[in-house]
Amino acid sequence: MGSVAMEEMPLDLDLGKLVGELREVYESGRTRGLEWRLSQLRGLVRLLEEEEEAIFDALHQDLGKHRAESFRDEVGVLKKSVVDKLQNLKNWAAPEKARTPLVAFPATAMVVPEPLGVVLIFSCWNLPIGLALEPLSGALAAGNAVVVKPSELAPSTSAFLVANVPRYLDPEAVKVVDGGVEVGEKLMEYRWDKVLFTGSERVGRLIMTKAAKHLTPVALELGSKCPCIVDWIDSNRDSQVAVNRIIGAKWSTCSGQACIAIDYLLVEEEFAPILIELLKSTLKRFFTKPEYMARILNERHLQRLAGFLADRRVASSVVHGGHVNPKTLTIEPTLLLNPPLDSDIMTEEIFGPLLPIITVKKIEDSITFLKSKPKPLAIYAFTRNEKLKRRIIDETSSGSVTFNDAIVQYGLDTIPFGGVGHSGFGQYHGKYSFEMFSHKKAVLKRSFLLEFMFRYPPWDESKIGM
Ligand code: NAD
Repeated sequence: MGSVAMEEMPLDLDLGKLVGELREVYESGRTRGLEWRLSQLRGLVRLLEEEEEAIFDALHQDLGKHRAESFRDEVGVLKKSVVDKLQNLKNWAAPEKARTPLVAFPATAMVVPEPLGVVLIFSCWNLPIGLALEPLSGALAAGNAVVVKPSELAPSTSAFLVANVPRYLDPEAVKVVDGGVEVGEKLMEYRWDKVLFTGSERVGRLIMTKAAKHLTPVALELGSKCPCIVDWIDSNRDSQVAVNRIIGAKWSTCSGQACIAIDYLLVEEEFAPILIELLKSTLKRFFTKPEYMARILNERHLQRLAGFLADRRVASSVVHGGHVNPKTLTIEPTLLLNPPLDSDIMTEEIFGPLLPIITVKKIEDSITFLKSKPKPLAIYAFTRNEKLKRRIIDETSSGSVTFNDAIVQYGLDTIPFGGVGHSGFGQYHGKYSFEMFSHKKAVLKRSFLLEFMFRYPPWDESKIGM
């Protein structure tokens, strides 16, 4: 059985059995061969192609995502990424020659990537296909046996993964374990060779604490408040392009329920009115039907977002939208101008369709502002000012920086994706997904030919500085 619906299984017994079986498969050496790894990647591509409609349906049921959004953010980007792995895996997995110093002559040195073993992947509900299958593709490319634990909060997608992963991948080496917090906790009692966790900082801490028991390395992909600097706004085309992209990175990406969604804007006072007008008119043009925006995950998350607006000081800063509809689990695209910096909306990750706009006197002040905050997953800036770009790169810290666009960095296989500081650690995507689940083994081959006796006692002064 490749995938496991938890309600059918007595937890203690079967999880232990499942982990034990995976370890046996891994120890048999089956997952190490390049051909096995390539066949798994091909299986993933087939899954994405043949089950595209079922994926769209599951994402629609869980989050009300439009098919076009699901294709852009999940199926399309993932397929491109897996194909990239198929094309490059042979090179990535090949031993890499290293230089050897004269003192080791004659010798050859190499860095040989080896799989870690049996790994565990926790994914999140907002991109429930991509956040499960992108790390899975890296773990398989690297030759590991894998358990994927999808989020219980996207039940249709979890059910899809449970039903379909074993149909396309080696069911003895890849298991999908469905279930909630209790299952996650239980899984963390076993020894893993790596755990990649995507989710909240709070649970990330628990995962890391539990992993310490077995000295299991972890990668934490957490959240943050991703700021976006808007250097100028006028009536030119570039300003409209900037506004399109800001809207794309807030409301058209799971309604802002994305770890790299823009959390808030920083703009000079004089540009705020025209920015707000342009945002309003463009929102009107983009969202001509309610189904073009994903819905809020559930009632609890809707109430959390409504709670931000319940603060009277915050409510009075709303300059557009603000309507919350518990029946449809939707919130109007909402713009807020200068909500208090000590309010929850400015101290917690928003993860929803509310966009605060914070004004600064001079755009350079935004750098001081960013430096006073925890390191985010991404910093965005719309600017033509090369000096400002340089200062952002040199003076601030974040998982990534993107100029004149937002969120699209997620789709690039050539740059690493991951956080720094409180937004997490460990990078993946493209070759970095392969490296995430590989150990770089140092291999040195010496010859018996030459022997330097200065390495050995008896010691005397002549053996110093040779
Ligand atoms: P969460 O942290 O509550 O849960 C994530 C996963 O952990 C789920 O599979 C869940 O079942 C499991 N889990 C929960 N409690 C557990 C426990 N005690 N022990 C073991 N497993 C447990 O997820 P959430 O809060 O709904 O996720 C939203 C957060 O995730 C946001 O902060 C968001 O920014 C972040 N996120 C980050 C990324 C990224 O790539 N960096 C991507 C998506 C979401």
